[in-house]
Amino acid sequence: MKLMLYLDMDHFFAACEEVRHPEFKGKPLVVGSAPKESMMKGVVQTCNREARKFGVHSAMPTRDAYKLNPKLEYIQADWDYYENVSNRIMEFLSSYKLKMEVDSIDEAVMEIDVNDYKEAMKLGEEIKKNIKEKLGLPCTIGVSKGKIFAKMVCDAAKPDGLKAVEEEKIQEFLNDKPVEKIPGIGPKTRDKLNSIKIKTIEELAKTDPMVLIDMLGSFGKELFTLANGKDNSVIVENSNIVSISRERTLERNTDKIDDINKMIEKLAKEVIEDVKKRNVVFKTIGVKARYFDFTDKIKSRTFSNYSGSEELVLKTASSLIKDLVNEKPVRKVGVRVSSLVNRGGQRSLS
Ligand SMILES: [Mg+2]
Repeated sequence: MKLMLYLDMDHFFAACEEVRHPEFKGKPLVVGSAPKESMMKGVVQTCNREARKFGVHSAMPTRDAYKLNPKLEYIQADWDYYENVSNRIMEFLSSYKLKMEVDSIDEAVMEIDVNDYKEAMKLGEEIKKNIKEKLGLPCTIGVSKGKIFAKMVCDAAKPDGLKAVEEEKIQEFLNDKPVEKIPGIGPKTRDKLNSIKIKTIEELAKTDPMVLIDMLGSFGKELFTLANGKDNSVIVENSNIVSISRERTLERNTDKIDDINKMIEKLAKEVIEDVKKRNVVFKTIGVKARYFDFTDKIKSRTFSNYSGSEELVLKTASSLIKDLVNEKPVRKVGVRVSSLVNRGGQRSLS
C-alpha cells in the first residue's frame, strides 16, 4: 500500500547550534540577536527545548524572552550553516529513491510503498536513527494515508517522535482537534470558522459544504473533504535541496565595488556549475555581504519563471550587491540561488 511519510526536524536551528556548540546543550538557548545587541528590538527566531520550558517561543520579541528569563543564551542565526545541514538531510532522504517533496528547510514528505503500517514504522525508525547518527539531530516522523494527514500526525508526535495513524483511525484522530491544526488554516481562517461556531475538525466535518464554499471558496471544499477523513494531496516532486550557495572571505576588508564584484562573479560561476551538475533550475537569486563588524545583510530577487541562466545570475547578483556595498567595509560575500526544482519537473510550474 502507498503511504506518506512526513519528516520534520525538531527545533531545527537550535539543534544545529547545539551540534556545533555542545557547551549550550542543556541550557536554554535562543537563536536570534541578544537583547544588548538588538537593543531589545529583535525577535526569537527559534529556541531549544530548555528555553521553551520558560515559555519562550519562535517569533517572540527578544524583550519578552528576556523578561521570562534574563539568563538565556543567545546565538546569531547562521542561514548558510542551516541550509548546508538541510541539504545533507535531504540528500540522505533522496538516497531512498522514493517520490519526495521538500516542504521547507527542515521538512520533507516521501511516498512509501509498504505491506503494512508496521513496515512503515520500521522504515521511519531507520530514518530517525540514521539522521541522529550521521548529524546528531533529532526529528519527528508521521505516517498516514495522505500528505496533509501525515504532517498532522507528525505534528502530534513532536518532539523526537514516530507515529502512524491508520486509515480507519484517521477520523478519530482528527475529530477533537481544533481546526487550526489543519495545515493551511491560519489565524484568519480560524477566526472566520470560529465566528460560525466551528471550532473542532469534527464540527467542520458536519458543516454544510456549501456554507464553507461560500465562505472560503475552493479551499472550503478542500477543508470539508479533509475534515471528513479524505486526504487527496499528492507529492509534488521538487529538487531535493533548498538552495545552492557559495561564499568566501575577501583578501582584505574593502568597500571597492570592483573588487567585490570580481568575487561575486567567481562565486556566481561556481553556483551555476553546481546548478548544472544537479540538473535544477531556480527562481530566486540572492547575495550576502558580511561587513567588517561581522554583521550580515542579504538581498534577493525572485523571478516569475524558473531559469538556469548563468547570465541572469551574474547580472542579478552584481546589481544586488551594489545596494549592500556603501557604508561599511565588506569582509565576506556570498551568492545563492533558491526556490529550486528539478529541470525535468518544471513544465507544469512555469
Ligand atoms: Mg521543524
